[in-house]
Amino acid sequence: MRLLIMGPQGVGKGTQAALLAQHYGIPAISTGDIFRYNLKNQTELGKQAQAFMDKGELVPDQLTNAIVKDRLAMDDAKQGWILDGYPRNAAQVEALDSILTDLCTPLDRVVALHADHDVLMERMTKRAEIEGRADDTPEVIAKRLDVYAKETEPLLAIYKERGLLLSVDGVGRIDEISRTIISQLDQVA
Ligand code: AMP
Repeated sequence: MRLLIMGPQGVGKGTQAALLAQHYGIPAISTGDIFRYNLKNQTELGKQAQAFMDKGELVPDQLTNAIVKDRLAMDDAKQGWILDGYPRNAAQVEALDSILTDLCTPLDRVVALHADHDVLMERMTKRAEIEGRADDTPEVIAKRLDVYAKETEPLLAIYKERGLLLSVDGVGRIDEISRTIISQLDQVA
């Protein structure tokens, strides 16, 4: 199973990606987690990504596409994967298409989670308090939601046109949302 999980920050993508990964026995790959790991360890990639992450902006495509290409070519990704936080703009959709063509592995489904703006702001503000994430200040949260609305949300239409989109309400009990996604994925599998 090769899946994308898409949706605005705070909608529960990471949580649902982890549950789907466990259910299907595939790795959940989050570009945000990869960037945060590199930032924490002050690698060259982390240093290059830092200024963009601090402002809630997208890290340049060239860097982002390269990490996804390398990650999807790793051994544990051979049986499938779930990508969380990528692609985020039209150029990344194209880059992913070409990565998958090279690997001869088509995408199976795109899961899109939805929630209202107010619910997202509230959830992310709480997460900032609990996790102390540097990029979860109110200004940066608003900026990231704005970037999502402008650059990422329009991508859903592309996947809808390809017949891959599965839209799911991201508000509700975590286990119920997960069950809904899995039963819908299993119907089309
Ligand atoms: P996330 O946890 O997915 O919201 O990602 C945190 C931050 O990492 C984002 O605000 C971006 O600065 C950066 N990032 C993560 N994924 C991408 C991506 N696909 N393209 C560009 N930047 C990204």
